[in-house]
Amino acid sequence: MSFDSLGLSAELLRAVADQGYSEPTPVQRRAIPAILAGRDILAGAQTGTGKTAGFTLPLLQRLSRSPAASGRRKVRALILTPTRELAAQVGESVQTYGRYLPLKSAVVFGGVKINPQIQKLRAGVDVLVATPGRLLDHVSQKTLDLSAVEILVLDEADRMLDMGFIHDIRRVLALLPEARQNLLFSATYSSDIRRLADRLLNAPEQIEVARRNTAAERVSQVVHPVDRERKRELLSYLVGSGDWRQVLVFTRTKHGANRLCKQLEKDGIRSAAIHGNKSQGARTRALADFKNGAVRVLVATDIAARGLDIDQLPHVVNYELPNVPEDYVHRIGRTGRAGNEGRALSLVCVDEHRLLKDIERLLKRDLPRESIAGYEPDPSIRPEPIQKGRGGRGSARPGAQRGSGRRQGGRAAADSRPQGRRRQARAG
Ligand code: AMP
Repeated sequence: MSFDSLGLSAELLRAVADQGYSEPTPVQRRAIPAILAGRDILAGAQTGTGKTAGFTLPLLQRLSRSPAASGRRKVRALILTPTRELAAQVGESVQTYGRYLPLKSAVVFGGVKINPQIQKLRAGVDVLVATPGRLLDHVSQKTLDLSAVEILVLDEADRMLDMGFIHDIRRVLALLPEARQNLLFSATYSSDIRRLADRLLNAPEQIEVARRNTAAERVSQVVHPVDRERKRELLSYLVGSGDWRQVLVFTRTKHGANRLCKQLEKDGIRSAAIHGNKSQGARTRALADFKNGAVRVLVATDIAARGLDIDQLPHVVNYELPNVPEDYVHRIGRTGRAGNEGRALSLVCVDEHRLLKDIERLLKRDLPRESIAGYEPDPSIRPEPIQKGRGGRGSARPGAQRGSGRRQGGRAAADSRPQGRRRQARAG
């Protein structure tokens, strides 16, 4: 099936051809005609299914075909996303697919100056991509008028609810005209999503393109058991010996991401960290450097990685297992996308056996264990509790002091321990 049969205009087909897409993905096949027909949509589609083009193309066509009210341009399509990165990526897609149409778009999200966004909104915008918090900032500053919105898209709605945006979403809904088209995209269907869908959608076309855990089936997964203090060394070894050029590495904490990134740099592996404490500029730069190959390892926390669109990522490494098993599925969904073979590796230490069990329960299967020669875990090492939240693991040990003394102790320990362990392991 080609794009020509979906009812898209010549301008949009040209933009699609520029991208080199030969045929629509399953979500596009279903969503595009339904949206063009003016229907509401409830789509269960993850990142990587082509969902962005699935709603952007028909949305642009509807706006370009129906005339706007005369006078200053007002926002006619509003796309809400959970994260800044996703907003930026959707904004890029709107630009890309709309390049031959006389429509204007803008992206607004927090963490950057508001004034340039205000200028852009003042100049008139047809399509606005936004994260909920900054959108409401604009509303309260009266720099944004939502009274002419005809199409609302909630992208990754499950993520928005996970991140606590439900109240913001309700506030936004109250600002929109009653008569409008609503498109809801969500990777998962919790009861909260169903409630939101019931409230929001009018006789929606339901589209289900990928079952929830398909990434788990498509991606080859392996667990490398290793001691907690030797994970970094093993990671450097894997990156170097496998000559990996592009690997996304997950840590549990922001602090852990920064620390790992510095250590990898010391090992001569160009790395960047991406997490919520980084400025928007730093995050955008890190992602661009990773995409263009200047950086080999991108170290990310779960929240920062959501919605990242990185093509054909060959390797994903769980440097630390996530506390929430569903996050594991989201993480490994970053590899093996759009039919490409992907490999997800988890470096698992004795502290994480319970987390691993939870993940295997969710996947309904055991993951294969493969020890790497020279990195076999030392069976005498006892599990330690996993530190949640700030600080990261490895910095707090039983009996360690709080405050700066603890940090120093942690650093000294991190420097000296691997050697000691290696000697021990060899001796044993
Ligand atoms: P999404 O699920 O929207 O995040 O899209 C995932 C990736 O698929 C993006 O890099 C798109 O550029 C790409 N893509 C979207 N539609 C198609 C298509 N019809 N054929 C090939 N790639 C596509």
